[in-house]
Amino acid sequence: MTVEHIPVPEAVPEQTKPAEGVTDEDRAALRTRYLEERDKRIRADGTQQYKDLKGILKLSDDKDPYTEVKPREPLSDHVDFLFLGGGFAALTVCARLKEAGFNNMRILDSGGNFGGVWYWNRFPGAMCDTAAMVYLPLLEEVGTRPSAKYVRGPEILAHAQRIAKHYGLYEHALFSTHLESLTWEEEGQQWRVKTKEGDNFTATHVAMGTGPLNKPHLPGVEGLEKFKRPAMHTARWDFEVTGGGWNDEVMDKLKDKRVGIIGTGATAVQCIPQLGRDSGELFVFQRTASAVAVRGNHEIDPEWFANLEKGWQAKWLSNFVTLMSTGIADVDHVHDGWTDSVKRITGRMIQEAVKNGKNPAEMGFADYIKAYHLSDDEYTTAVRARTDEIVKDKKTADGLKAWYRQYCKRPCFHDEYLETFNRPTVHLVDTDGQGVERIDETGVWANGKHYELDVLVYATGFEFSSSYTKRSALEVYGRNGLALSDAWGEGMKSYQGMHVRDFPNLFIVGIFQGASLISNVTSNFTDAGLTIAAMLKKEKELGTKVIETSVQAQDDWVKLILSNTNKITGGPECTPGYYNNEGHEEGEKERLDGGRYPHGSHKYFAYIDDWRTNGRFEGIEFDGQEVAVAA
Ligand code: NDP
Repeated sequence: MTVEHIPVPEAVPEQTKPAEGVTDEDRAALRTRYLEERDKRIRADGTQQYKDLKGILKLSDDKDPYTEVKPREPLSDHVDFLFLGGGFAALTVCARLKEAGFNNMRILDSGGNFGGVWYWNRFPGAMCDTAAMVYLPLLEEVGTRPSAKYVRGPEILAHAQRIAKHYGLYEHALFSTHLESLTWEEEGQQWRVKTKEGDNFTATHVAMGTGPLNKPHLPGVEGLEKFKRPAMHTARWDFEVTGGGWNDEVMDKLKDKRVGIIGTGATAVQCIPQLGRDSGELFVFQRTASAVAVRGNHEIDPEWFANLEKGWQAKWLSNFVTLMSTGIADVDHVHDGWTDSVKRITGRMIQEAVKNGKNPAEMGFADYIKAYHLSDDEYTTAVRARTDEIVKDKKTADGLKAWYRQYCKRPCFHDEYLETFNRPTVHLVDTDGQGVERIDETGVWANGKHYELDVLVYATGFEFSSSYTKRSALEVYGRNGLALSDAWGEGMKSYQGMHVRDFPNLFIVGIFQGASLISNVTSNFTDAGLTIAAMLKKEKELGTKVIETSVQAQDDWVKLILSNTNKITGGPECTPGYYNNEGHEEGEKERLDGGRYPHGSHKYFAYIDDWRTNGRFEGIEFDGQEVAVAA
């Protein structure tokens, strides 16, 4: 494979290279250690262990610290299309609708502006570790040049808001508004929308792009409410307490403070370098270490960017998704820790096939998994060795090593995280898988010891893979008053991840039961925009009013999702987390809630592209009839 990618300045480190000389004995020892580490962490309460922010933190998930809310008159009109959520899902779908000539729309969000997760998650150090060239949608359409390979939160938020300006979406926005209920009215064949602000209007179509990182949660420990000093979740950063700002400004109010942070996931990995730099002392409470590999960030050369051919982003996106879906490509445009990991596995599979006299083209998923395991032992060994190279104190270095396969948990890439633990003021409190014990008025208890703190930060994540009811703040009532949480009581049931029987004219814009490209979530949304635009166009052409999946199409899709056993993320042998139902066996419900198309993201995108362009819209009823029948 040739590598035609963003030119890397010489000083930038290469990706983490796999270790050499890993023996069969080493592999067996790893297997044993991984299982031991998993067993230490299994909790009976699994996904139920986490708690709500409300009533515990000053800035809970329904408080907006970033925008002053101005009173306004309630609305009582009708719109053709309502989008719930104002993040990249809304922006990309509504941009596609605008391109297709639809203008009668409204976008409703509880935040005071567009941006979604990037509006809310303003923790210092926030950035996206998927390359900006593919993560930021509609770069060519809007005319944005990312400043670096990976860009910070403020730049991402600015791009989101530039999309909104470019497509004239601000005129459709209804911000600082909290949905109270969404109910299908059979008589008018429309959705009744009520908000906590007193709005009571109707919408013919509704799309929901409200997750999955919408609901932050707190650790399942005693005494959270007792802590009397400032505390915050990373998804609701309180700059009044810390000083500084989101754009890397020094948090001057922390300089004499003892700060604690609970959690060492992808968010903490980005936040700890900043907190370590600015706090008087920082205590990092760790339950499970993240595996942190080289990120290799660098600026993007404006001249190189200006010379990219028209249509480059679609080509890069397609290349990224091919590689990330275990496919083979001649080039690797992004060339980073994500694509490196999958190329390593695919390369190993081909190597093993050739070694064993087999035809690489005939290799199946079992061969892929075998190659993953073989190459992963070498990769994770190198990541652990990197920790030893960087972190000077041996005990701390050992504590920061991750003992699980790369895709057991969200892979992390960062160039300053491990280095931060060399600061004399930064202390790792490794709890050997047990987590913090409890919290009291003045601090945190861990390993039987009390740590007095002035400020406490929770980097403890979100309701990512729990059921719809737990994840969502809103209830949707479809035909005959059927609640979506009841329809999905035994697990999410959809057609193509987007349509749900008995919930007509409702489009789910998310990541489950579809392409489910988690290494680049915005791709899922941009593509969904094309699908929705195509369906609305078809509806207009047919002169119909109601779009709904057929029962058969949904049932078949659910079977297809359940047939998927090809999964490299998570698994029962992994340390607990949201990739593996916190280590508990996945039943049908969990397999549906986190379900994905069995043939990979690239095949889903190809399938859905054909589906929306061939004009037949198989499985969808327009006013109760499928197109082939109605035509
Ligand atoms: P995570 O769920 O990944 O991490 C939560 C952390 O809290 C874990 O380290 C967890 O430990 C720890 N924790 C939970 N309970 C306790 C306890 N009782 N005691 C001590 N520690 C505890 O949340 P994040 O916010 O870090 O990330 C969520 C997702 O957001 C990511 O997976 C990613 O999808 C997205 N994200 C993306 C970024 C990007 O660059 N694109 C950046 C940041 C986030 P344990 O591992 O043991 O459960």
